[in-house]
Amino acid sequence: MGIDPTFETSRDVADEHEGHTVWGPVDEPETLGIHGTHVAVDFDICIADGACLEDCPVDVFEWTDTPDHPESEIKADPANEAQCIDCMLCVDVCPVDAIDVDPGRAGRL
Ligand code: SF4
Repeated sequence: MGIDPTFETSRDVADEHEGHTVWGPVDEPETLGIHGTHVAVDFDICIADGACLEDCPVDVFEWTDTPDHPESEIKADPANEAQCIDCMLCVDVCPVDAIDVDPGRAGRL
């Protein structure tokens, strides 16, 4: 199952990381939540495939360390979500549907 696109209503804000919102639940190191709002990455689904980092034309994603997470020990963090141009490439290439991009969702803290 991929990222829940209704996370803004189904989850609560748990934290802030590198200038973007983190949607809970968060219980490190096993449960890390969803990072970002306009560009949202479910860290608990991400397997660090890297296609989004390679394909994003405006470098929205950066690796972040997530030691001891069961899926992968690095994650594609939407560190620069404000730069997103809504091309949807990352959504298309993610092999585990961990990313949701919605132009109507403003990034917020
Ligand atoms: S939708 Fe396009 S611009 Fe936005 S984060 Fe994904 S690949 Fe980058």
